Amino acid sequence: MLRATVVDDSEDLVSAVLADFSPVAIHDLAERPLPPGGLWDPTYPPIPDPPPAPLHWNVCFNEAGERDRAADAIHDALPLLTIERVDLPDEDWAARSQQSLTAVRAGSFIIAPPWDLPPEDVDATVIVIEPSMGFGTGHHATTRMCLRLLSDLDVVDMTVLDLGTGSGVLSMAAALMGARSVVGIDVDQDAIDSAEASANLNTLPDSITFQVSDFRHQPPPPADIVLANLTGGMLTSSAASIAALVRPHGQMILSGFDHTQADRVLAAFAPFTERQRLSEDNWVALLLHQ
Ligand code: SAH
Repeated sequence: MLRATVVDDSEDLVSAVLADFSPVAIHDLAERPLPPGGLWDPTYPPIPDPPPAPLHWNVCFNEAGERDRAADAIHDALPLLTIERVDLPDEDWAARSQQSLTAVRAGSFIIAPPWDLPPEDVDATVIVIEPSMGFGTGHHATTRMCLRLLSDLDVVDMTVLDLGTGSGVLSMAAALMGARSVVGIDVDQDAIDSAEASANLNTLPDSITFQVSDFRHQPPPPADIVLANLTGGMLTSSAASIAALVRPHGQMILSGFDHTQADRVLAAFAPFTERQRLSEDNWVALLLHQ
């Protein structure tokens, strides 16, 4: 992970630089120091709302090498920013998430770890995900919103492309909804391995395939529905190549960005227009059509 302390006017530049890399997650955390006597300390001036800059951006990568290249690129663009490089052991992440994960509902789906399967007669389509290296256990708002938007689409006989499939959850959902073919791609071999492992825990039609690739360099064949839960920076900078993967009259579900980035993402995808917008925990998901 890298931690950058950014100030307001550097956020766009950091986001643009990060778009050249493949972070798996970006969290921005406001620095909000507590007064010495706690929140109600009357001797301390009130904390401004919104809180003062700077913000800490915690940006997670699959590999330390990629993180270091991104940190160097940010440093070249903005030499005054403070950037820390932090190693997060993979096992910790997996172990921590395994302990606490329970099944969650999103749209017409329930995403369940193998140890918390819902009863067989539950009124939802169950997708079993083995929490491991792939992002997408259903515990992040962006995954759930993509599933909610997908639940309302007519997917039967459509071709579907899932850019940045992570755990494979969105691909599996589309396959279970009756898609004619589903291709889930991810730049990270660990993600594809975990998607394949989870796919084996489910009874899926053979319309689904996973492959390791970077859609920016090895574009897959276009599809009727393109799912892309990436980052705001990557969606904005790769909008033209993503839009080129949508067949005529097709639709796109985009997520991985917050309210402050939503309009920029939308503008980058013109002439696609917004059909539906969801938001949860400050994250946004968009359904776009031509
Ligand atoms: N689709 C899942 C996972 C989203 S996380 C869900 O909705 O929960 C985003 C994933 O995109 C990560 O697994 C990351 O490795 C992958 N990714 C990032 N940049 C990519 C690129 N350029 N090409 C393919 N995959 C990419």
